[in-house]
Amino acid sequence: MTNSVAIVGGGAAGLMAAYSAAVHGAEVTLFERNSILGMKILISGKGRCNLTNIKELHEFIQNIPGNGKFLYGALSRFSNRDLIAFFNKMGVETKVERGGRVFPKSDRAKDVVKALESALIKVGVEIRYKSRVKEVVVEGKTVKGLIFYDKEEFFPCDKVIVATGGKSYPSTGSTGDGYDIAQKLGHTIVQPRPSLVPLITKEEWVKDLQGLSLKNVEVTAYSMGRKLASQFGEMLFTHYGVSGPIILTISRSVVEHIEEGVTLSLNLKPALNGEMLERRLKRDFEKYSRKQLKNALVDLLPKRLIPIFIDICGIEPEKSVNQLTREERNKILKNLTDLKLTVIGCMEDEAIVTSGGVSIKEIDSRTMESKIIKGLYFAGEVIDVDGLTGGYNLQAAFSTGYLAGKSAALS
Ligand SMILES: Cc1cc2nc3c(=O)[nH]c(=O)nc-3n(C[C@H](O)[C@H](O)[C@H](O)COP(=O)(O)OP(=O)(O)OC[C@H]3O[C@@H](n4cnc5c(N)ncnc54)[C@H](O)[C@@H]3O)c2cc1C
Repeated sequence: MTNSVAIVGGGAAGLMAAYSAAVHGAEVTLFERNSILGMKILISGKGRCNLTNIKELHEFIQNIPGNGKFLYGALSRFSNRDLIAFFNKMGVETKVERGGRVFPKSDRAKDVVKALESALIKVGVEIRYKSRVKEVVVEGKTVKGLIFYDKEEFFPCDKVIVATGGKSYPSTGSTGDGYDIAQKLGHTIVQPRPSLVPLITKEEWVKDLQGLSLKNVEVTAYSMGRKLASQFGEMLFTHYGVSGPIILTISRSVVEHIEEGVTLSLNLKPALNGEMLERRLKRDFEKYSRKQLKNALVDLLPKRLIPIFIDICGIEPEKSVNQLTREERNKILKNLTDLKLTVIGCMEDEAIVTSGGVSIKEIDSRTMESKIIKGLYFAGEVIDVDGLTGGYNLQAAFSTGYLAGKSAALS
C-alpha cells in the first residue's frame, strides 16, 4: 500500500522533508505557493547561505534560545555533520568560517537550492508550484487531504508536513499561513514575534551616524529597571536606529517589552573599568590640553561620533579642554559607558526569524508528529523554535524536516 505524503512549503524544512520522506519510501508531493523553491535560502547569509554550524550538539543547542532543547531528537537523528555530508554528496563543497559557520565553498546560496532541487528530482518527488494550501482536511482527528486558496481541488493524502516557515521577509512567501492551518486543527500558537531584528530608536541623532559600525562595544537592554540582555561585540547605526550582530542577538529579549519601554545602554569602552577610563581620559586631555574638545576625543571615539557625542553631553564643542569643569568631565565619562538609546519599535519585515509559532508542547519531538491530529507533522520555523545567527536556524529547519519526512514515511 502506498503512503502518500504531502509537504506544504518548499523552503529548507519542506525540501528536506520531501527528500527524506521519498528516500524512506513514501509517494511525495510538495506544494509551494511561489513559482520557485527556497526563496529564503537564496537570500540567506547575504546570498552566501550559512547553512549550518560545526559546533557540537550541546553547544549548538545553547545557540538556540527559543526552545533549543526541543531539537535534541531532530539534531541527533540528522546532525550538522549529516547535513554537510548530504550537501557534499550532492556536489556542494563546504567551508568553515569564523565561529564555526558553514558556507558553500562557492559562496552561492543558489547552489544549495539547486542541490536540493536535484535531490528531489532524483528521488521522484512531484513538485507543484503556485499552489497555496489553505487547510488540512481532517476526519475524526486523522489527516485526509488538502484544499487550496486558488483552486477548487481536493488533494487526498495520508500524511501532511506543514513547513510554511515563519512571518519574516513575507516577500519570500512566508506569511504565517501555517499558524492558521495549525490553529484551525486545534493547535496552540505561541505569539509569533520578530526576532534577530534591527531596532528603531527615538533618538534622531542615529540618522547622522548611518553606516557607522562600532566594534568591541557592549550593549545592555533594560525595561522597567530590569536588565533584559547584554552583548559584547559589533553594532551598526542605521537611518532608523541600530542593527548589527549584538543588536540582532539582544532583539529577541527586547521585542516583547517594547510597549513597556526599553532603554539601551551603550558602553563604548567596555574593556576599561571606571578608574581606568578616568585615567585614560585624563591622559588624553593632558595630551590635547590646548585643543578644543571637538579635537581632543580623536583617540577615544570614531571621528563621526565625536560631534554627536559632545552634543549629547551638552558641552560647547569649541570649549578648550583645559577649561572643562569637573561636571563636564563627569558627563563625558558617564556617556562613554552609558550612552542611552530609547527603543520605540523594530523593523518587523527585516527580522531574520520569527520566534513563537506552533507550540512544542503539542508536537512529539521524536517524530515531529502532532499530538492532536494523526498524520500531521510540523517542520522548520513554523514551530516555536528560534536560534541565533550562525547557521542554527537553517540546520533546525533541515533537521526537523528530515525527521518529519522520515517519520511520515515510516509510520
Ligand atoms: C535575510 C535572511 C537571512 C538569513 N540567513 C540565514 C543564514 O545564513 N543561516 C541560517 O541558519 N538562517 C538564516 N536565516 C533564517 C532561515 O533562512 C530560516 O530560518 C529558514 O529558511 C526557515 O526555513 P523554513 O523552511 O522553515 O521556512 P521558509 O524558508 O520560510 O520556507 C517556507 C516556504 O513555505 C512556502 N509557503 C508558505 N505558506 C504556504 C502555503 N500556504 N502553501 C504553500 N506554500 C507555502 C513559502 O513560500 C516558503 O517557500 C535567514 C533569514 C533571512 C530572512
